[in-house]
Amino acid sequence: MNKQQAIPYRQQLLRMRSALLAQVAEQRGGVISRAEAAADHFAQAEDSRAQVTTERELELAIGERETAELAAIDTALARIEAGTYGECTDCGVDIAAARLHASPEVTRCIHCQEKVEHLRSA
Ligand SMILES: [Zn+2]
Repeated sequence: MNKQQAIPYRQQLLRMRSALLAQVAEQRGGVISRAEAAADHFAQAEDSRAQVTTERELELAIGERETAELAAIDTALARIEAGTYGECTDCGVDIAAARLHASPEVTRCIHCQEKVEHLRSA
């Protein structure tokens, strides 16, 4: 979908990003302040160089699980910028709107996701 169509998802992703950082801040006290500042910077930054720097700073400041979640959110935001948001990365179909509303960071359609999860658990 194009950027215009992706606006509601972008807003949802940015809200998730803030909520995740707030949660980390609660868990870790002052440690997050630098990452939080970096995230605010990212929210306003439009060029990809700023994004890369921000991701590195975030990785230094927070844990692995949070980093993975943030990476998924950032990947989705990058795909919105690229105009490829909402397409399954495996088979290319449009991911169902209900699925994107529930989890805007997903990159696969439900069928491909099930295949991946089946492989992982096998
Ligand atoms: Zn698929």
